[in-house]
Amino acid sequence: MRRPRSKPPDLKRFGRLAEYNLKRRFDVTSEPAGKLAPVRKKRLEFVVQKHRASRLHYDFRLEHDGVMLSWAVPKGPSLDPSNKRFAMQTEDHPIEYNQFEGVIPEGEYGAGTVMIWDRGTWEPEVEDVGLALRKGDLKFRLYGKKLQGPWVLVRMRERQWLLIKHRDKAATTRDITAAKPRSVVSRRTLAGIARAGGASPRQLAHAQEADASSAVRDR
Ligand code: MN
Repeated sequence: MRRPRSKPPDLKRFGRLAEYNLKRRFDVTSEPAGKLAPVRKKRLEFVVQKHRASRLHYDFRLEHDGVMLSWAVPKGPSLDPSNKRFAMQTEDHPIEYNQFEGVIPEGEYGAGTVMIWDRGTWEPEVEDVGLALRKGDLKFRLYGKKLQGPWVLVRMRERQWLLIKHRDKAATTRDITAAKPRSVVSRRTLAGIARAGGASPRQLAHAQEADASSAVRDR
């Protein structure tokens, strides 16, 4: 007669490895016991590109579903939660675009100088990013050099959003675009990038003008 089976151990804590563990006796086999590794979420990238095209703006991009969702923020991000920054949604960009810093030649779409102003990773603070985007209310955290902590993008109407910092220890009334005007990858100014990238005299003048406006606002 078979020995009555003892109560089966609770393997729920092993999640998807419960069956693997149930089938093995680890005092006998030398196979490893199945332990759940910490969930390794692939880190999602974000980038902010300072772009002196027909006018200066900051392209704010969040990786989602294999592309970079993109918004053009004319005044740039603000660390002051009372500043709601207008953000016009633009076309999705390839993830490789995050590496781009240089000059878009005259006559081309977006012609002008592009700087990688900040970059890092981001984390949604919602379960379903697609749903949050459809609802027009996306809460997230940024882990950048200049931008950190909780933020929200709120849609007002078709393609028109507001980018707002949420209150935390990174919140400040200090103007980050003025305090930190340079590239996070090359430390260059817009003019430095323009010069190195073969900008036209007009593009170089625009880049210098944008650098100077940051410096003025810094005072
Ligand atoms: Mn742009």
